[in-house]
Amino acid sequence: MVPSCEGGPAVKETLLQAVELDLSRPWHRLRFSHAVETRFEADTSVQRGRHLVIAGIMALVIYDLYIINDYAFRPEAVHIAAWIRFGLMTPLALAVFYCIRRGLPSLLREAAMAATIVVAMLLSNVIFFLSKSPYSFLDTFSFGLILLVGNIVLSLRFAFAVGSSLFCALIVATFVVTYEPMPTEVKINTLVVFTSSALFTLVANFRLEASERQSYLLLLREQLRNQAARKDNQVLAKISITDPLTGVANRRHFDTMLEQRWDEAIAERTMLGMLVIDIDYFKHYNDHYGHLKGDACLRQVAQEIQNHIRQEDDLVVRYGGEEFVVLLPNASASSAMRAAQRIRQGIEALAIPQAGPGVITVSVGAAAVQPSETMDPTILLSIADEALFQAKRAGRNRSVLAPLQDGPLPA
Ligand code: GH3
Ligand code: MG
Ligand code: MG
Repeated sequence: MVPSCEGGPAVKETLLQAVELDLSRPWHRLRFSHAVETRFEADTSVQRGRHLVIAGIMALVIYDLYIINDYAFRPEAVHIAAWIRFGLMTPLALAVFYCIRRGLPSLLREAAMAATIVVAMLLSNVIFFLSKSPYSFLDTFSFGLILLVGNIVLSLRFAFAVGSSLFCALIVATFVVTYEPMPTEVKINTLVVFTSSALFTLVANFRLEASERQSYLLLLREQLRNQAARKDNQVLAKISITDPLTGVANRRHFDTMLEQRWDEAIAERTMLGMLVIDIDYFKHYNDHYGHLKGDACLRQVAQEIQNHIRQEDDLVVRYGGEEFVVLLPNASASSAMRAAQRIRQGIEALAIPQAGPGVITVSVGAAAVQPSETMDPTILLSIADEALFQAKRAGRNRSVLAPLQDGPLPA
C-alpha cells in the first residue's frame, strides 16, 4: 500500500489539501474525498486484488473440505453436496477470482466478492436443508464462519460487508425457520448466534478498514510533503547559483565550477579555456539611459553570450556589474579566441544604441591553459583578465588572447 508519486506540483498541492481535510473527517466516514479516493484505489487496487484472490482460494479450499462433514452428517445427500460444492461453488468462485486477478473496477470487485459470500451462504443452507439426517442442522452453527471470511479474512469494504451480512442473515433465517426437523429452541439459538457473529465481525470489519485508510492517509501526506520539500529545495538550489538580473550563473557557481572543471581537465589532460567580457563605456550608457535601461541591456548581452556557446559544456557567469566570464572546458586557445570573436561580433550586431555615436560593444580577454596539480585555478582568470585589460587599452570592441596559451604554465 505505497502511495505512488504521479501528478504535477499543482495537483500535488491540492491533493495534499484534500488529504489534510480527509484526515479530519468524522470517524464514521470511511470514504475519502473524490480525488483521494481515486488515488487510494489506484495505489491499492493491485495489492487488494491479490489479497482477495489468495484469501478467497484458502476459504474455497476449506469450503470444499466440508465435504468430509457432509459425509459424516448426511451420507445420503453426500452426492448432491459434492455436486454443489465442486460443480457449482468452486467454478463460480474461481471465475470471480480470475476476473479480480485480471482487474475489475473497485465497486465491481467488491460487489463480486460480496456476492460470492452470499452464494456460499445460500448453497451451504441448501446442503443442510436437503437432508433430513438427524444432525444435518448442526451445520447452521458453522455459518458464522462464512461471515468471518467475508467480513474479516477478505475484509470486504464496510458497505459491502453490511450488505452481504444482511443478505446472509435473510437466507439463514428463511432456511432455519422453515426447516422442520429443527427444534424451536435450536432455531432461536442458531439465529441469535448468527446475528451476534454478524454484528461482531462487522465491528471488526469497520475498524480494519478505518485503520487501513488512516495509515494510507498518513503515508500519503508524508510522501506529498516530502515531494513538496524536495521541489522547494531544488528551486532554492537553483536560485542560489543564478544571477537574478540576467538568469546566467552567478559568481558562487563559477567558483565551484572552476574548481570542478579544473580537476576534470587535469584528470582528462585537456585544456581549459576562459573568456572575460566587459561592456565598453557602460557607465556612459547608464548615465544617459538610466539604470533600468542599463539592466535591460545587461540581460540582452547575457542572452547573446549564451547564444554563442556550447550549451551542454560551457558556462556563462555574471562575474560582477557589467562583466561576464565564460568557462570553456576542453577548449584550446584558438577555439577560445573564436568563441570570443563570435560573442563580440554578436553583441555588436545587436545594435543597441550607445550614448553618443555607435552601439554597445564589448571587449574580451581570452585564455586557455593546460591545468596541472601545481597550478592554481585562479591563474586562468588572472591571465584572461590581463588580456581584457590589453583589449581595453588597445581601443575596446576587440578580443585579445592571453600570451600564455596551449601549454603548461610554470607553477
Ligand atoms: P570600460 O569601457 O572601461 O569598461 O568603461 P565602463 O564605463 O564600462 O566601466 P566602469 O567600470 O567605469 O563602469 C561600469 C558601470 O557598470 C558602472 C555602473 O553604472 C554599471 N553597472 C554595474 N552594475 C550594474 C547593474 O547591475 N545594472 C546597471 N544598470 N548598471 C550596472
Ligand atoms: Mg565596462
Ligand atoms: Mg567593468
